[in-house]
Amino acid sequence: MKNVVRKNIILLMILLMIILIFCFILLTKPKINIKYNNKNIDNEITINVFDTFEYPTVEGKYLRKNISNKITYNKSVNTSKVGKYEINYKLRIFIYNIEKKIIVNVVDKVNPVIELVGNSEVNACSANSYEEEGYTASDNYDGDITDKVTIENNVNERIYKVKDSSNNETIIKRIINISDETPPVIKLKGKQDVYVKQNDKYTDPGYEITDNCDTEITNVKVDSNVNTSKIGVYTVTYTAVDSSNNESSIKRNVYVYNSLTGQNINGEEKGVIFLTFDDGPSSYTSKILDTLKKYNIKATFFVTSNGSDSLIKRESEEGHTVAIHTSSHNYGKVYASVDSYFKDLEKVENRVYKLTNEKPTIVRFPGGSSNTVSKFNKGIMTILTNEVLQRGYHYFDWTLSVEDAGSCTKKKTSEERRNCVYKNFTKGISKSKMNVVLLHDIKSYTADALDDMIKYALSKGFKFDRITMDTTQVHHKLNN
Ligand code: ZN
Repeated sequence: MKNVVRKNIILLMILLMIILIFCFILLTKPKINIKYNNKNIDNEITINVFDTFEYPTVEGKYLRKNISNKITYNKSVNTSKVGKYEINYKLRIFIYNIEKKIIVNVVDKVNPVIELVGNSEVNACSANSYEEEGYTASDNYDGDITDKVTIENNVNERIYKVKDSSNNETIIKRIINISDETPPVIKLKGKQDVYVKQNDKYTDPGYEITDNCDTEITNVKVDSNVNTSKIGVYTVTYTAVDSSNNESSIKRNVYVYNSLTGQNINGEEKGVIFLTFDDGPSSYTSKILDTLKKYNIKATFFVTSNGSDSLIKRESEEGHTVAIHTSSHNYGKVYASVDSYFKDLEKVENRVYKLTNEKPTIVRFPGGSSNTVSKFNKGIMTILTNEVLQRGYHYFDWTLSVEDAGSCTKKKTSEERRNCVYKNFTKGISKSKMNVVLLHDIKSYTADALDDMIKYALSKGFKFDRITMDTTQVHHKLNN
């Protein structure tokens, strides 16, 4: 009996042991351990895009036994693409099916880069008016994102902002130093040279002012010394100052003239202008006569067989000297011989005599007495210049050529040719000598320039006269 009890107790103990061991086994689960960079990881790993990624090391343990080789997992991480990737670890053993999940977060934390074209500190009227020189924006992940840049203008700076697709933002500035070094621009209304008849009222044609920074310039000064009661050249000076104290100024010339000229100046030829017109008449002659009439100025016309008779009549009737230049103006013909010259001259002499009832006695040689075009007939000018004087004529060369049949013809536009004639005249006339001016009434731009030429000379106090037999002859040095 005692033996039976002992046996049962032993059996019961064994059974209890078995139950305990079974419970221990049931209650001890296998374990997955994940280590990344020597640290235990439970849920998430963050890495930068494009970084190299080594998958974490995993360790499986069950009842102190290493069962790492039984763990499987997916390799789905793409480090070149921003995003969240799951790695699922699985371990199957005995009755257990263990799973563990970690997230690999591939992120872009690098800011984009904005590069400015031009300096980061510039001068301008304002940030608004600064003319953008350009910029580029690039990102390690998105590439070129220049089109995503936004610009903001503050008073003293221009701000450039850009965000990449991961919301990394870069902000840079361009400093705008408010500075204006450009003076205003004054533009004169009307012409730079204005002519006013003596004792007429001078009305300023006005001006326009623009500035790079200021919308309106109010600091404007107009200084004038114009005195229309006295002939002379006067100046009106316009001065404008902008808000940054940049100053500019421009001048207008005012010529005050009068037309009391051409009276009894014989014997006082210094500073007198003798306008002489060659080769006409032509269709431009009437305009020239109109201008001369306007200022009551007498001139001298060296006519040919050209043009209409009525113009020669008019020249004479309006008090000008009708002088003669040869009929044909053909060098080969007129300089062929003494006879040939006087035959040709006689033709135009008869024409003038018929129209004016006066025998012309003033002559001008085609090409002037100094011409070299006659050299095909050696010494002809020496003979002719002597001969015309012997026959009772006076001949005239010139002291000033306006080049209207010379260098001015090479100018492109008629406006340029007109200005060329005007310039040669205004620069060439002199108070200290007599001025016999060579012009051609067969040139439209000469006719166009004449009005201003006369006004200029009158405002400078010059007098005009026509050539008569009392006028001191002007002779060039002979070349043939
Ligand atoms: Zn000529």
